[in-house]
Amino acid sequence: MYDVIVVGGGLAGLTTAIDLSRFGYDILVLESNPYPHHKVCGEYVSKEVAPYLKGLGIDLEAAGAVEISIFEMSTIDCKTVTAKLSLGGLGISRYAFENILFEKAKTQGVTFVFKKVTDVVYRNDSFQVICQDDMAYEARIVVGAYGKRSGLDKALNRDFMFKKHAWLAVKGHYRNQSFPENLVALHNFEGGYGGLSKTETGAVNFCYLTHYKSFKKHSGITDFNKNVVSKNRHLKEFLEESEPIFENPLSIAQISFEKKQPIVNHIMMCGDTAGLIHPLCGNGMAMAIHGAKLASTSIQKYLENTDFDRSAMEREYTTSWNTTFKKRLWAGRKLQHVLLHRKWMNVAVRTSLLSERLLTSVIAKTHGKPIPYD
Ligand SMILES: Cc1cc2nc3c(=O)[nH]c(=O)nc-3n(C[C@H](O)[C@H](O)[C@H](O)COP(=O)(O)OP(=O)(O)OC[C@H]3O[C@@H](n4cnc5c(N)ncnc54)[C@H](O)[C@@H]3O)c2cc1C
Repeated sequence: MYDVIVVGGGLAGLTTAIDLSRFGYDILVLESNPYPHHKVCGEYVSKEVAPYLKGLGIDLEAAGAVEISIFEMSTIDCKTVTAKLSLGGLGISRYAFENILFEKAKTQGVTFVFKKVTDVVYRNDSFQVICQDDMAYEARIVVGAYGKRSGLDKALNRDFMFKKHAWLAVKGHYRNQSFPENLVALHNFEGGYGGLSKTETGAVNFCYLTHYKSFKKHSGITDFNKNVVSKNRHLKEFLEESEPIFENPLSIAQISFEKKQPIVNHIMMCGDTAGLIHPLCGNGMAMAIHGAKLASTSIQKYLENTDFDRSAMEREYTTSWNTTFKKRLWAGRKLQHVLLHRKWMNVAVRTSLLSERLLTSVIAKTHGKPIPYD
């Protein structure tokens, strides 16, 4: 019987495991994909995570993450606005980031098993976690940190798994010497947008999100890049001047931005498993890490204190999750709606509404404050 089983070892799961293992609990992480591995992501992480991660003994800057301080945005028609990022961010690949957290968790005694989880059953105040090979593991607490979408969501009967979702994403690393190190850029194209920023290796990460309706008219990624993405002059120039590092870009489909619940069948959902903010906000990683802190705080209270029972833990986590993230998710939804609306964007440009001031205020609404370590 483990104290805690974490299903999924992405940023949310690994941070939860590191935070809770400081207290000597017996923790198992079940992850389907051995480290290190690349992931579809913009790889811009808001600096709000820095104080908390440093407290846990993780220094991304020391690991080579690049400092990002300028945000540039362009509309489909290539009107461009830039703004200074007040808190700033860091550019680091998921390949490196998760491997750093994995190594840290191992040194703190966390057990890792690389298997896919297919079901989680809650019975008699404890859990059975069942894997693809039918092996079952037991725990007092289960944290669900398995990302946006997994077969496990179907086993748990979560609504969004029974619907089709229209978004897909593509990501690759590129060699491009002239791309500025301190810049994160977000460029729109018909039906989607793409982000550019540098990582710790010097490679530029190019990651885009697009509506399937727009993508399906083309024969594949190369054709789509040429005929849709490259309609934005900034992206055209980037693709023409850069050399791809990956043999093939990575892609994922069926991305859902629907509302989810932070507790399902007594499982503490964390990171994208509890709710995914629109990628254009550049805040999903910070939310996954902050969510891990909230979950760890309530779990630690439960494991230490017999007066703080499971329902108190679940109530506290739900409240803190909603207070911390609900408004940010709402702002992200609204923002995506406006950004992908060509007419509204044109009006915003014509009336000078799309300005540095507006961008700064939007960034503030979709980001959090520095997460303290306590
Ligand atoms: C196109 C795109 C661009 C983005 N760009 C940015 C950005 O620039 N900045 C930012 O802050 N956020 C960005 N995000 C959001 C960010 O990527 C996520 O919010 C973040 O990855 C969430 O981390 P997580 O730990 O919750 O999930 P994940 O990182 O997805 O981790 C989940 C883990 O669970 C494992 N897993 C899944 N199912 C199972 C199973 N059944 N059993 C065992 N293991 C399982 C997976 O292998 C994975 O390692 C972007 C998202 C998208 C879609």
